[in-house]
Amino acid sequence: MAQPTVLICGAGIAGPTLAFWLARHGFAPTLVERSSGLRSSGNPVDVHGDATGIARRMGVLPRLQAAATRAPGLAFVTASGRRIGPLRLGRPRGDDVEVPRADLAAVLCEAAADGTEFLFGDSVTALEADDGGVDVAFERSAPRRFHLVVGADGLHSTVRRLAFGREADFVRPLGLYIATLSLGRPAADPATVLMYNQPGLSLTIHPVRGTAGAGFIFRGPKHPGAGYRNPEAQREIVVNAYARHVWPVPELPHLPGQVRNAPDLYFDAVSQVRLPGWSRGRVVLLGDAASCVSLFGDGSSMAMVGAVTLAEELGASRGDPTAAFHRHETRHRKLVASRQRGYQLGAALLVPASRAGLTVRNLAVRLLPG
Ligand SMILES: Cc1cc2nc3c(=O)[nH]c(=O)nc-3n(C[C@H](O)[C@H](O)[C@H](O)COP(=O)(O)OP(=O)(O)OC[C@H]3O[C@@H](n4cnc5c(N)ncnc54)[C@H](O)[C@@H]3O)c2cc1C
Repeated sequence: MAQPTVLICGAGIAGPTLAFWLARHGFAPTLVERSSGLRSSGNPVDVHGDATGIARRMGVLPRLQAAATRAPGLAFVTASGRRIGPLRLGRPRGDDVEVPRADLAAVLCEAAADGTEFLFGDSVTALEADDGGVDVAFERSAPRRFHLVVGADGLHSTVRRLAFGREADFVRPLGLYIATLSLGRPAADPATVLMYNQPGLSLTIHPVRGTAGAGFIFRGPKHPGAGYRNPEAQREIVVNAYARHVWPVPELPHLPGQVRNAPDLYFDAVSQVRLPGWSRGRVVLLGDAASCVSLFGDGSSMAMVGAVTLAEELGASRGDPTAAFHRHETRHRKLVASRQRGYQLGAALLVPASRAGLTVRNLAVRLLPG
């Protein structure tokens, strides 16, 4: 059989990790990424557990360690300004690292470059699968045929919509929203992530290699309206939610203006993705597109682990992708299912809904080991 061709849609975390390992299993991967270059975004994500071992085997761990945020502790700041912590609460240990998501994606793409074709600034518009392959139409590139197509294009996956159906059938918003932005100034405490709370709202100042990032996680309607997808409306949603309170945060002296003028605001409804099956014929979903675990649950590490599992299974049965997809799903679903169940605890810890909940949270974290 000629070298099997695989189109991977999405050069985030899962996509380049899969490309790297598929090339080593004798496949010819092509990565198509909608952004014209690698996106810049300061959201820090963790690479830990099995994902750290994967990064080591890919030879990228030293690069990730060099890009790491190095803020080992998380402290909660009470209404009276007192700090609880710093605690380690899920912070990286051993060789684990916390890196800005954009740096992780860039390092993984660089590792995959040898053996992968990249199509930046493009996307898929139609998929027509038959027993032998998938005919793919692109926004910009000429139509092509691939043996397999992988949707690694995140929470709002286009591949999932084209091959499985509308997003609303699979994406479950959790009644939480997240916005992040870079503040372009140093964090007052460069070694500690600081979290401030009001009932239903959290505001985090995250030191990211000399610059502070702000994270807003807040409770809102279970079903986001149309305005939640509009970038201008998103800024007002954040301002309206947070401007009702005084935040004693030195890095955010003019919260409304800083949110309205941020050049890199990221906003989304925190969601999980649940599908009864991750593949249809020669098309398979990976990472957040298949099984987004929400903010709480190691999405980046899970994306890397799932990519390696898929590459291993495809490598083991090159002539039978359907069997490989099923074996991958059986192995990986166990890991994501337990993490999807844990989100309520994460939400209760980071964004208590009431003042009483906040008091209980603060009492509980005081009892945790530092
Ligand atoms: C604020 C925040 C904090 C987080 N913190 C953590 C954490 O601490 N630990 C952790 O493990 N996880 C964390 N996560 C989750 C983590 O970022 C995701 O789970 C992870 O990035 C999923 O990887 P992915 O490759 O599946 O998707 P993504 O990283 O979302 O990548 C998808 C890629 O597909 C591209 N794309 C989208 N649509 C198309 C299209 N139509 N055509 C072509 N390309 C397309 C996108 O541009 C993107 O590059 C966090 C997420 C957020 C938002």
